[in-house]
Amino acid sequence: MTAAPAPLERDLAALVGGPENVRPGTASEYLVDAAAQTWGLRGRADAVALPGTPDEVGAVLAWCYERGIPVTPRGGGTGYAGGAMPDGGVVLSLERLTRIRSFDPLQWRIEVEAGVRTGDLRRIVRESGLYFPPDPGAAELSQIAGNVATNAGGPHAFKYGVTGAYVTGLEAVVPPGDLLRMGGAQRKDVAAYDLKSLLIGSEGTLGIITSVWLRLIPAPEVFLPVAAFYRDTASGCAALETVMGSGLAVAALEYLDAGTLAASGHAFPGGGPEGGPGIPAGAGFLVIAEADGSPEEALRLRAEVLEALADGALAVHAPETKAEIAELWRWRELMSGMVATRLGGKAGEDIVVPTDRLAEAIEATLEIGRRHGLEACSWGHAGDGNLHSNFLLPRLDPDGELATVRRAAADLFAVATALGGSISGEHGLGSLKAGHLEAQLTPATYRLHGEVKRLFDPKGLLNPGKKT
Ligand SMILES: Cc1cc2nc3c(=O)[nH]c(=O)nc-3n(C[C@H](O)[C@H](O)[C@H](O)COP(=O)(O)OP(=O)(O)OC[C@H]3O[C@@H](n4cnc5c(N)ncnc54)[C@H](O)[C@@H]3O)c2cc1C
Repeated sequence: MTAAPAPLERDLAALVGGPENVRPGTASEYLVDAAAQTWGLRGRADAVALPGTPDEVGAVLAWCYERGIPVTPRGGGTGYAGGAMPDGGVVLSLERLTRIRSFDPLQWRIEVEAGVRTGDLRRIVRESGLYFPPDPGAAELSQIAGNVATNAGGPHAFKYGVTGAYVTGLEAVVPPGDLLRMGGAQRKDVAAYDLKSLLIGSEGTLGIITSVWLRLIPAPEVFLPVAAFYRDTASGCAALETVMGSGLAVAALEYLDAGTLAASGHAFPGGGPEGGPGIPAGAGFLVIAEADGSPEEALRLRAEVLEALADGALAVHAPETKAEIAELWRWRELMSGMVATRLGGKAGEDIVVPTDRLAEAIEATLEIGRRHGLEACSWGHAGDGNLHSNFLLPRLDPDGELATVRRAAADLFAVATALGGSISGEHGLGSLKAGHLEAQLTPATYRLHGEVKRLFDPKGLLNPGKKT
C-alpha cells in the first residue's frame, strides 16, 4: 500500500498540474549536486515541485513565500558548490520547462526555457551554422538557466567569454511571486539598471529564471588544438606567457600540472612513444592552446601557436582529424573523474587569480596540500587565471580528511584573495563556500551585497544560506 501524500505535497500538486509533478522530500536525486556527492553531503527537503510553466513557477513561489517556506531552485544538479542542495522547504526543479520559444538563425538569436540542456542548445544552434560558445564540462546534464545562475564558463571562455556575455534578456520569477522580464531579443539596452546581470551568477538566491534570450555567433569552421608538454610549472607558465604576450587570439588556453598528469597521463591520446597513448617521459606540465576560425585562419594561427610553444617543450601533439581533436577534448573533460579515481575521492575548488599570478597559485595549491598532509594538484583555464585546485583523499570521512580539506580550502581562498583574485571563478559559492565571501570584499561592498539580497528577497527564503 502506498502512503497517502503529505499535506504539503497535496497543496503543491494543485499548483503544478497534479500529483505526478510532485515528489516527496525524500527523493534523493533532488537532495545533492555534483559537489555534494564528492563531499558525501546530502540536503533535506519537505517536497519537490516540478512546475511546467512560468506561471506555475510563480504560483509555487508565491504560495511558499506567503507561508514562510524556503524554495531552492534546481537545474541539472551538476553544480560543484552545493548550490542546488536544499536545506529544508521545497525544491523547485525547472526540468519541465524545455520549450524553445523562438529561434531566429538569421538574427543570430534564440529564446529558450530554463530547463533546456546546454548540450542540446549547442547542437540546435550548430545545425544552423551558429555557435553558443560557453562549454561547461557537464553540458549534457546541466541546464541553460543553471549555467546562467552560475554564470558558467569552460575552456572557450578565454576567447569568447562566460555565459553572461551571451544573455540579452531573462524572464524570472522573484519574491513574492512576480514574473519579470529584463532585457529581451534586443542586443543592446542601457535604459534601466542592468537587472538581468544581478540574476546572472546569483545562484538561485534572487529569483527563479524561467527563460533566457541568448545572442549567438557564426560558428568557427575549424578547431585546431595543440598540446605541448613541459618539464615543470615554471617552463609551462613561461610558455603560457609567450602565447599571451605574442597576442595570439587562441580560443582556449588550458593547463594541467604534474599531479594531474600523473592521474590522467596514461589515457592521454597520442603523446607517448610512437604517438600512442600516454605522455612523454619527464613531463610535469601540459599546455593546450586551440586555434579556431576559417580553415585558413585556424591553420595560420596554429602555426604561430606551434612556434610560440616550441621553446622548452618536451613534446608537442597537434591532432589533425576531427576524431583526434574530439578525443583530446574528451580526455580533458574527463579530468575531474580521472583525478578522483587516483586515491578514491577528491574535493575541488575553483579559485581565480590575475593571469600573471597563475604560477604562484599553482605552487600555493601544492604547498597548502603539503601543509595539511594532502595530495594536491591543479588544472584549469590558464588564459583566465582560473584553477581547479584539488585535494585528493581516500575516503569520505566527515570528521577526518574532509575536515582537513575544509581547512586546506580556507587557506586556498586566502591565497586567491591575497593574489588579487577571487574564491570562485566558475562554480559559485553554493553551500560549500558559505561564509567565505566577506573576507574577499570590503565591508561596504559586502554590506551592499547583503542589501541587494534583502531587496529581492526580504524574507530570505530563496535558496537560503547560499551566496554568503
Ligand atoms: C564534470 C563536470 C564538469 C564541469 N565543468 C564546468 C566548467 O567547465 N565550467 C563551469 O562553469 N562549471 C562546470 N561545472 C559545474 C556545473 O556544471 C555548472 O555550475 C553548471 O552551470 C550548473 O548547471 P545546473 O543546471 O546543473 O545547475 P544546478 O547544479 O542545478 O544549480 C546550480 C545553481 O544554480 C541555481 N539554479 C539552477 N537553475 C536555476 C534557475 N532556473 N533559476 C535560478 N537559479 C537556478 C541553483 O539554485 C544552484 O544554486 C562542471 C560540473 C561537472 C559535474
